Amino acid sequence: MENKNILISGAGIAGTALAFWLKKFGCNPTIVEIAPKLREGGYAIDFWGAGFDVAERMGILPDLSNVDLKLSELTFVDENDKRRGGMNYRKIIKWMNGRAFTLLRSDLAKTIYKNLDKDIEIIFDDAISKIEQNENEVLVTFKNGNTRSFDLVVGADGLHSNVRNMVFGDEAQFEKYYGYYTASYTIPNPKGDKDFSMFNVPRKQVALYPTNKNTSAVFYIFASSDKLTYNHHDIEEQKQILRNEFKNSGWKCTDLLAEMDAAPDFYFDVVSQIKMTNWSKNRVALVGDACDCPSLLSGQGSTLAMVGAYILAGELKNANGNFKVAFEQYQTIFKGFIDDKQLLAQKFAKQFVPKSKFGIWLRNVVVGLMFLPFVSKLLIKQFTDKLKLKDYTIEGTSCQPGIANTRLN
Ligand SMILES: Cc1cc2nc3c(=O)[nH]c(=O)nc-3n(C[C@H](O)[C@H](O)[C@H](O)COP(=O)(O)OP(=O)(O)OC[C@H]3O[C@@H](n4cnc5c(N)ncnc54)[C@H](O)[C@@H]3O)c2cc1C
Repeated sequence: MENKNILISGAGIAGTALAFWLKKFGCNPTIVEIAPKLREGGYAIDFWGAGFDVAERMGILPDLSNVDLKLSELTFVDENDKRRGGMNYRKIIKWMNGRAFTLLRSDLAKTIYKNLDKDIEIIFDDAISKIEQNENEVLVTFKNGNTRSFDLVVGADGLHSNVRNMVFGDEAQFEKYYGYYTASYTIPNPKGDKDFSMFNVPRKQVALYPTNKNTSAVFYIFASSDKLTYNHHDIEEQKQILRNEFKNSGWKCTDLLAEMDAAPDFYFDVVSQIKMTNWSKNRVALVGDACDCPSLLSGQGSTLAMVGAYILAGELKNANGNFKVAFEQYQTIFKGFIDDKQLLAQKFAKQFVPKSKFGIWLRNVVVGLMFLPFVSKLLIKQFTDKLKLKDYTIEGTSCQPGIANTRLN
């Protein structure tokens, strides 16, 4: 196989999943991550569909099952914490034949990381500052001043991708803003509260749920018709935006905001999608949110990042490292599927957080109706990914041929 020395920018979900598969397929991946260690924090994700199938092929389902939050119900509450509706998680998981988890993003990231081959070089606390490519190599300069040569570079550095900015151009060309901001962090849960509650006021939503570590996670979304201007590196400024949005919202918001400063893992970002015509340029490609972010509106950002990583690594293997063929195939196989996911999320965007009291009431009623048998039958179809995953596995990997494509229709 040619072009085996591959630099991956970003040790998030896509970056670590890509390194996992590249190593399995005989490549020599290196990861560079800007954070000093693997990043913690983030929301709970619903983990199902093609990403679940990829996790199965990685052999990490038992580990993921151990960190499954095993939530039983999402309860919609009013300002007095009184139940106004809800969503039965157990039933949804049953609809999916048990092939679904609810995981903290950080637990998924840690699980993939823990399962990486120990020979993979991972450089923390550094980033790419310059990329120059020619016919034979990519010359990469790092922020620490080192310059190294790689055969290929993959940007797996998220929604605000550094590699994309350097090689493909400014983020504004590719970003589609959907009118929301999101934030999350964890707080102590000394009493071991088990409830997963969601509270809404028009245009704002806050959810609180237990993690498996004597903490609870708080997750906010608020609508903003205009994009906000703030410094992406200034966490204090982001916290102040959140305080201003939720300080008069009622329910437990005052207490939850008071605990924000002590949180070790504050996360704040815009809810946007990334739409690009081309996911590669010569020897540089993108994967995950960097090229195809579907946003939290899709509920599948992390699982899709894993699928993209699997296909990209698999196509490189199938093409014996011929990156031109592999990058083209990767996009041909995956882009239509992603376009559909992005479109679905886009259609859902306006209703994602109800904008009025009537909208909140209607949401509670409609979610209740979902569990009527004839409606749930229709919904199950929505929970089935129609992507036919190739089996790229080779002898010596932990993957078992035959478990592939179990969810196809
Ligand atoms: C800490 C964290 C919390 C998150 N919480 C939420 C959430 O609450 N809601 C939500 O919708 N989405 C959240 N996300 C985004 C979500 O994880 C992704 O949408 C999804 O998992 C796709 O994964 P990805 O690997 O493409 O991107 P990400 O998971 O975002 O990973 C990108 C990685 O690249 C690293 N990186 C960034 N810039 C550079 C650089 N210049 N050089 C090297 N590395 C770089 C980041 O530190 C990160 O580790 C969060 C992401 C992170 C990193």
